[in-house]
Amino acid sequence: MIGQIDGLTGLPSSKGTVIFVCGKCKRDSLPVPAFGADTQKRLVHLLVCPRCLWILGEWPSLQAKEADLQEFAAKVEALNRPRS
Ligand SMILES: [Zn+2]
Repeated sequence: MIGQIDGLTGLPSSKGTVIFVCGKCKRDSLPVPAFGADTQKRLVHLLVCPRCLWILGEWPSLQAKEADLQEFAAKVEALNRPRS
């Protein structure tokens, strides 16, 4: 089972690592980090699909990005945990 936020999809691998891919292109495209400016022209940290240019995530700081992605990975992991 895959988890999804903001167009970003998390695929669990057999090793337990969660792989982030584009929600549209799936396995065909891995997100790349990028910078952008929001509507207030403030710098934002992005994850973008290089294939379809869909923004997969946007954060005001690297710390916020890291915290969000950790939380997302934990959700994907929980979805795929075998039920006992
Ligand atoms: Zn894509």
